[in-house]
Amino acid sequence: MKVGVLALQGDVREHVSSLIACGVDPISVRRIEELNSIDALVIPGGESTTIAQLAEHYELFQPIRKRIADGMPAYGSCAGMILLADRILDAIEGQKTFGGLDITVRRNAFGRQVDSFESDIDFNDGGSQKVHAVFIRAPWVEEIGKNVKVLATVISPDGQSHPVAVQEGNLLATSFHPELTGDHRIHRYFIEEIARPALVRGGRR
Ligand code: GLN
Repeated sequence: MKVGVLALQGDVREHVSSLIACGVDPISVRRIEELNSIDALVIPGGESTTIAQLAEHYELFQPIRKRIADGMPAYGSCAGMILLADRILDAIEGQKTFGGLDITVRRNAFGRQVDSFESDIDFNDGGSQKVHAVFIRAPWVEEIGKNVKVLATVISPDGQSHPVAVQEGNLLATSFHPELTGDHRIHRYFIEEIARPALVRGGRR
């Protein structure tokens, strides 16, 4: 299985390291040939507006959008979550996303109270251990479509619960950055529970 990390901006290296720790040999994706060669894509944390603009510049925007719409497994952390969302609140004017996940995210949602914070949260992947989650100018999910599974939530300072990890079909997104903590369970979940089964179903390994 060939896994790519979108390498236009953001914490690409950290995702590459996490994927290597999960036993895959990832490639950096900057060109259409690289996109065409992969079976699954990771979209890093960084700045969603910049990543989208660079994707347009490198003529990757529409091709990525299409691959995702056609069922390519993808995982996005933080800015990557925003880029996978069908709808964004507090976007900059004209901000576009690859879409695919039937969610509405609010950019920089926690930022009105706290810019960055860390928290131990439950990740409902069938395991029982907590995940140490790092949030940096993170989005949260405000609305989900009926086929979206919520895998983790946090309580915001005003006492409301917000999804911060969601899955719909082959798409996984987290508001937080597992690539920064050396805990590879989220990447492993993406590889073993989403990407590999999708490839097997598609008749490839
Ligand atoms: N606030 C950033 C954005 O809108 C995301 C921050 C991050 O990826 N750490 O893209």
